[in-house]
Amino acid sequence: MSVKRKIRKWGRRAALWMGICLFGCLYAPHAREAEVTFSCAVKRTKENTEVMRQGVESEGSAAGESTAAADLNSESPAKKVAYLTFDDGPSTHSDELLDILKEENVKATFFLGLHSYSHVYKQIYSSVDNFREDLWKLKTYLYHITGVSCDIYRFPGGSSTTQMKFPLKEGEKYLEEKGIRYFDWNATAEDAVCVQSAPGVLMARVLKDALKHDRAVILMHDLNCCKTTLNAVRPLIARLRKEDYAFDRLTKDSRLEE
Ligand SMILES: [Zn+2]
Repeated sequence: MSVKRKIRKWGRRAALWMGICLFGCLYAPHAREAEVTFSCAVKRTKENTEVMRQGVESEGSAAGESTAAADLNSESPAKKVAYLTFDDGPSTHSDELLDILKEENVKATFFLGLHSYSHVYKQIYSSVDNFREDLWKLKTYLYHITGVSCDIYRFPGGSSTTQMKFPLKEGEKYLEEKGIRYFDWNATAEDAVCVQSAPGVLMARVLKDALKHDRAVILMHDLNCCKTTLNAVRPLIARLRKEDYAFDRLTKDSRLEE
């Protein structure tokens, strides 16, 4: 599918999903205009694991109140919440992933959006000016495509990335000025290296840290090379439910652990 068709398709979904933030790394790794290539073979350490795209709600959660939403809106809110986050999509697995989320009635977050336009660490992290330029270029681009102004962000590589050549505080100040909140993660499938680890292995990596948190922000990737991630989603949801987790998407107002 061409990039333009892909953008239109996801744009339509965004509209259908009642204005829910549906942004994509369309622009960045995938946009032809950007003339960049993204290698998912880039080796990443745990704290360097690729992150962030923008919040997207699955069709299932938009169509009706999910169990998680019901829990979260009740007088006794769910004590434990899991936030499934997928970076770097859309991919060839996106539709199937959305179907699974719909069938499971689970909300998730796709950091497709405010993440990075170029996704080139050396460029965006060389100076705060370059960082600002990249982020604003992406925000503007996404707004033109979707009509939605994204207000959540994930630093490529996470906020603790060693690639950043300026103080994190300067980046944070810019985000605050623009009314944007950023999210890292506290559990990861470490799937961005694309070695096609078995679903059970991916699950074990996620659960190792996720179960330590009442608010588990789980990093996974929606990349073409992440087929096993797709296969891990349903069993992961089942296991987290068994552990009494509800599911929700990240928003600017999400209450996470300090
Ligand atoms: Zn990324």
